[in-house]
Amino acid sequence: MSFLCPRCGEPRLEITASAELAPDPEWDEESLQTVQCEGCALVGVVRYSESRRGALDSEVCWHEGHEVPAADYQAVRRLLEGAGGRLAQAPKYAKLGQLFGMRVAR
Ligand SMILES: [Zn+2]
Repeated sequence: MSFLCPRCGEPRLEITASAELAPDPEWDEESLQTVQCEGCALVGVVRYSESRRGALDSEVCWHEGHEVPAADYQAVRRLLEGAGGRLAQAPKYAKLGQLFGMRVAR
């Protein structure tokens, strides 16, 4: 699945790594993903949230993405790849806390 790249506008933004986050009281499903554009080489980190609460048939999706320096992209990608699809606890990467206001382990 490709997404529109916010920099070059081409639908060439690919998810390179993804892991589910530990359950959060606010969201039913939440993942952290790294993305890379095959067109302009933009790299970023995306937090994807999905909630099925509220009215019947209502589903709320939320994507929050940040373009990050290559070093941060690589660090988060390694973190996600090492998690085996699921981060059982708050990730140990302080930059994520700065980017997303996320709880991170020290
Ligand atoms: Zn691009």
